[in-house]
Amino acid sequence: MTQEVEKTKIKLAIYWGAGCGGCCVSVLDVHEKLFAVIDAADIVFWPIALDIKYKDVKDMEDGFIDVCLFNGAIRNSENEEIAHLLRKKSKVLVAYGSCAHMGGIPGLANFSSKEEIFKRAYYESESTVNPEKIHPMLETEMKEGTLTLPYFYEDVLKLDDVVDVDYYLPGCPPQTERLVEVFMAIVTGAELPPKGSVVGALAKSQCDECKREKTDNKLIKEFKRPWEIEDDGKTCFLEQGVICMGPATRGGCGVRCIEGNAPCRGCYGPSEGITDPGAKMMSAIATMIDSNDPEEIERIIAQIDDLAGTLYRFSLPSSYLRRKIMQNKNEQGDNMQGERKQNKNRKVNQKEMFY
Ligand code: SF4
Ligand code: SF4
Ligand code: SF4
Repeated sequence: MTQEVEKTKIKLAIYWGAGCGGCCVSVLDVHEKLFAVIDAADIVFWPIALDIKYKDVKDMEDGFIDVCLFNGAIRNSENEEIAHLLRKKSKVLVAYGSCAHMGGIPGLANFSSKEEIFKRAYYESESTVNPEKIHPMLETEMKEGTLTLPYFYEDVLKLDDVVDVDYYLPGCPPQTERLVEVFMAIVTGAELPPKGSVVGALAKSQCDECKREKTDNKLIKEFKRPWEIEDDGKTCFLEQGVICMGPATRGGCGVRCIEGNAPCRGCYGPSEGITDPGAKMMSAIATMIDSNDPEEIERIIAQIDDLAGTLYRFSLPSSYLRRKIMQNKNEQGDNMQGERKQNKNRKVNQKEMFY
């Protein structure tokens, strides 16, 4: 008599912190491969798709979850609390997508203070009508009980700022094929790379994968935005005066933006050997400027619209720039650790403003 051996499925959790939800949708983008995923894994927590509460996760034994894909950055106390919870309950924690990996698009908010963000959102935006200046509060007493909101941090953090991370799967969102490859490697017990590795991507840069024609003659007198050039579809964007983050960005996405005739914006993060993609691009740009006259150099650089936002579109919370800002804050005795600690012990009354 043949004995049916029950296949052991891995337990998978997927969580969405401070992000746009695109990473969760990218998991659904596996299309028919979803059957392979479901065949190999039991999804034990996925708020976008399953009605499983935080309490259910708290009731799981430590290490119960085999793999957790955490997407989104850490913007508030709830994101951080759940990051700690999922770290405790998961054997392997993956920072999934640019927001968890480097802070991502939400991390651009670190150019503004918390107060500026709330004033803009609740009082000043063109679409806001709020003459009574109503704003969110941490606690609101209702006859049914106390309603609470998470505490909004001064800065956006990346996942490994608050918990230990095993692997990083980059992209905004990661290429679905790469997710499936990484997932199947985990479920088939293939040898995994060392802890802390970037997985589902290449060591080499976008430029190494890109088929556009490049020469050594990248001297630029004028920078332009993509819509200001008549792109021939063949020449390197940088040589046409358009900022492309390819030289500083890890390959692995299939040069998907460039194949769509748009420059790379850097969502896969720095390629091997580069610590800060913005600094690397700044030095690349400096060597391209066709002038020795300081005034002219300044005029040419000023043509780059939103320079810092372009160079650090996905990586501001992990950048040298941020470290400098944090260093200045620490010197002023206003460090974020202090803020977060203070938050833990906060007693908030109903009248307190959200920021
Ligand atoms: S990495 Fe991109 S797709 Fe994923 S949550 Fe962040 S912004 Fe959205
Ligand atoms: S800079 Fe951009 S367009 Fe030019 S070769 Fe590199 S990836 Fe391709
Ligand atoms: S080309 Fe650049 S911005 Fe586009 S998906 Fe690839 S890494 Fe991300």
